[in-house]
Amino acid sequence: MSEPATSAACEHILEQLYQFHDHELTEAEATEIREHLMACEPCLDRYDVEQALRLLIRRCCAAQAAPETLRMRIRTTVTRTVIVTEG
Ligand SMILES: [Zn+2]
Repeated sequence: MSEPATSAACEHILEQLYQFHDHELTEAEATEIREHLMACEPCLDRYDVEQALRLLIRRCCAAQAAPETLRMRIRTTVTRTVIVTEG
């Protein structure tokens, strides 16, 4: 069996992680995500990766936002990395 380690609830949280970083969520939604991250190690690992990625992009592109195509490519790479790591 090669079922993903994450549940439907996890997928919901991960989808919102991007908005969470951009501060596009309400306080209630942000709290829900934080509480999930504190209880769910796979999602917390993913969140740490995302956070590191953000800092990297900001440092490299301080004057301008990263192109959407670059972001998508990075997201795809991160997703693959997480899946491989969770094996
Ligand atoms: Zn989770």
